[in-house]
Amino acid sequence: MTWQPLDCHAHTTLSDGSLSPEELVARAHELGVRPGVADHVTRDVDPAVTSLAATRHYLDVLAPLGVAIGGEFCWHDRLWRELPDDVVVRFTHRIGSLHAIFKPGGGTIHAFRREVPAGMTPDQYMDLHVQNLLRFSLEMPVDILAHPTLLPLEFRAMPLEALWTEAREDRAIEALRRAKIAFEVSNRYRPHERFVRKVVQAGVRLSLGSDGHSLEQVADVAWPLALARSLGVKDEELYDPFAHGSRTGRFGGKPHPAL
Ligand SMILES: [Zn+2]
Ligand SMILES: [Zn+2]
Repeated sequence: MTWQPLDCHAHTTLSDGSLSPEELVARAHELGVRPGVADHVTRDVDPAVTSLAATRHYLDVLAPLGVAIGGEFCWHDRLWRELPDDVVVRFTHRIGSLHAIFKPGGGTIHAFRREVPAGMTPDQYMDLHVQNLLRFSLEMPVDILAHPTLLPLEFRAMPLEALWTEAREDRAIEALRRAKIAFEVSNRYRPHERFVRKVVQAGVRLSLGSDGHSLEQVADVAWPLALARSLGVKDEELYDPFAHGSRTGRFGGKPHPAL
């Protein structure tokens, strides 16, 4: 069988995507991509999977579809802390997102809500962001860090290379390396090449994610795959829960017996 890329990160109508899971599967097959669903499992996105009961339902719906069954969990939301082991092991892989970071003294700064406090400089924010990323790597049992370069709306016009100084990149990479968390090459929030090259040099695994929410977006991992290949990453080294297991799943980091 020829190798096909796996889209580890895409959304359906089970959260805020526009395609049903079946439509996502059909689109992925059209593109020669193996389908993965990773809907929002959090109380911070609407609509999303927002409770334990809803999470069980989500897993029941996806189980017969032949997809990688992921979930995108918000670091700053508590739902991922509340899921029991018998639910956790039913995900093929789990993805953590820094959609918001914690502020010292309480509260959060959200990436989508223009909540950066007045007077906080980009450098101050970025130092806090990297501190949160280190805590995330120690506390959150996930396989992938989603869109690692996503930053608040206030800073989106600034060049990523300037915000992510090499020192900040190095701290983030070391945290992911120690925790064995893969670095997502997102087609939606595209990382800058320097960061990804250093991730590869450090031996941190890459994963491909369309982060698609629509027919045009889901399973489109052409850009992430091209970048990974240009950096010398072999196709089989890209994160695949069926080949590499999940840190937290039933198979304890061993290959999934289904394949
Ligand atoms: Zn996200
Ligand atoms: Zn997403």
